[in-house]
Amino acid sequence: MELSPKLSARFEKLQSSYPVKRSALIPMMMYAQDEYGYVSDEMIAELGRRLDLNNVQIEETLAYYSMLRRKPMGRYHMQVCTNVACMLKGGYEVLDRAKKRLEIGHKETTQDGMFSLEEVECIGACTGAPAMQVNYDFCENLTALKFDRIIEDLDAGRQPAPEPVTSGALHDRHWAETPLISRRWGMKDSHKLDVYVMQGGYQALEKALKEMTPESIIEEVKKSNLRGRGGAGFPTGMKWSFVPKDSPKAKYVICNADESEPGTCKDRPLMEMDPHQLIEGMVIAGRAIHSHQGFIYIRGEYRYVLDIVDAAIAEAYAAGYLGKNIRGTGFDFDLLIHTGAGAYECGEESALMESLEGKRGYPRIKPPFPAVVGLYGCPTIINNVETLSAVPSIIREGGEAYANRGTPKNGGTRLLCISGHVNKPGIYEVPLGMNMKKFLYEVAGGIPDGKKLKAVIPGGSSCPLLAADEIDIPMDYDSVAKAGSMLGSGGMVVMDEDTCMVDMARRIMHFYAHESCGWCIPCREGTAWLRKILERFHAGLGREEDIDMIGDLAKNMLGRTFCPLGDAAAMPTISIMKKWRGEFEEHLKGRCPYKSAEALVGSR
Ligand code: SF4
Repeated sequence: MELSPKLSARFEKLQSSYPVKRSALIPMMMYAQDEYGYVSDEMIAELGRRLDLNNVQIEETLAYYSMLRRKPMGRYHMQVCTNVACMLKGGYEVLDRAKKRLEIGHKETTQDGMFSLEEVECIGACTGAPAMQVNYDFCENLTALKFDRIIEDLDAGRQPAPEPVTSGALHDRHWAETPLISRRWGMKDSHKLDVYVMQGGYQALEKALKEMTPESIIEEVKKSNLRGRGGAGFPTGMKWSFVPKDSPKAKYVICNADESEPGTCKDRPLMEMDPHQLIEGMVIAGRAIHSHQGFIYIRGEYRYVLDIVDAAIAEAYAAGYLGKNIRGTGFDFDLLIHTGAGAYECGEESALMESLEGKRGYPRIKPPFPAVVGLYGCPTIINNVETLSAVPSIIREGGEAYANRGTPKNGGTRLLCISGHVNKPGIYEVPLGMNMKKFLYEVAGGIPDGKKLKAVIPGGSSCPLLAADEIDIPMDYDSVAKAGSMLGSGGMVVMDEDTCMVDMARRIMHFYAHESCGWCIPCREGTAWLRKILERFHAGLGREEDIDMIGDLAKNMLGRTFCPLGDAAAMPTISIMKKWRGEFEEHLKGRCPYKSAEALVGSR
């Protein structure tokens, strides 16, 4: 197959970048699709030839990832998010407008081939909800009118003006008195190396390489009480210490930048506005565990962010912060950025490694844990973007100083995304332990139109929901757990008194049913049945026995699945059933107290 010089060069580079060739498969399919609009039979044959794979291996991998296609879509692919934050801010109304305006439905294309439409899951723009992507471009704070204007512009051959970066977050982003990891946000050219260096960047790396041993780096991170910011909250220094020092195998550092938990969109600006901070954190992590190779696995939807980070990696190589003999210390570390292709499940660390190896993102049975048997069977640490971005501050300031910014056992600051029914949606850096109610009302401006608060998702859609009278608590991992929920990935979604909790339960389950990889029965069957029952219920067709059945089904998923997705689907459902059962009983009367029946049936 004849390829364009650009695609051919990209393929050549990808084929030689990984220790195992198959790892290049997903990025190669994504770049091929960018050029041709889909992955054709000819392209599959070409990929097979280049990567020594057969058609079945490629097809079964491709079919797993929602962004990869076997047939072309429109020139402009309109992907409208209706997940929780967007739903609360009118995402379904935007979708309805799109259907009417384009006269097409979900996954359909206009006759002239100009537009196609897709209702998608969370795209990581929660603070700018409702949002959509046109191809890879983000359009946030949408209204029906704004959607129309975008279509008119595209019809007339005009590109819509790019959104300001993370537009929903343009309120006061910093709240901590001295922000750490977000302190360069908004600074001109903050993503560039010279700005980063001028701001004291890479000093921590110099210190780690020239004045510290791998053991003392790990000790400092342990002292900082840094806990994983991706959701699980596992102590980072402890995780690093599990990597066997004497293993003769290669060791890997992976940055999990597959931010896909609904409600969460903080890693996107962290990479967009401060990629060198992440790179510096990864090299220090490499030094700590004797690794010489890192990977940044970034979700496929964040293509423009991938380009920014890729450019920053090139700058770091040119300046000697990456590559051989870094800053004359004899330490080598290479870093490669890798694109995902749309699969929430790949945020789970073992599924991410499978995906990075060019396969379906199925989780692995643990133990063994990745620190011992990880990527390509080698010791691997996987940390989230925010976690690794905190490392330079810890090394520079010292672990103790970092720990003192938070509460005991919950060191440092935390990025929180707040979205939904809130006056100042945004991404704020706050000290761990800040009071949740104070954060909502004093930092994020409270609930619009003087309405009362009904519920909060404290840390992404997999967390049990808290009712209005449960949020007067410190926001640290332990206190939120004590209140019956989780701080999770820091994605806080706020619901006012007019929110239908049956609809919320329906939308949350829709997401998990869509994302279940189907490997284990309780998750595959449980999420699918719960979605059906909740949709029926919300449409006013529920039966009395459904109420207990929803709770039972969810409880039967808890703790019975290979990976945490089963629990993630069950926990919010159980909390909604327990706290807002009365709303389910209201629906039994054939109506939603918050929406007309026509609106319900019409939009879902
Ligand atoms: Fe797959 Fe769900 Fe089982 Fe996880 S819990 S392995 S997503 S089926």
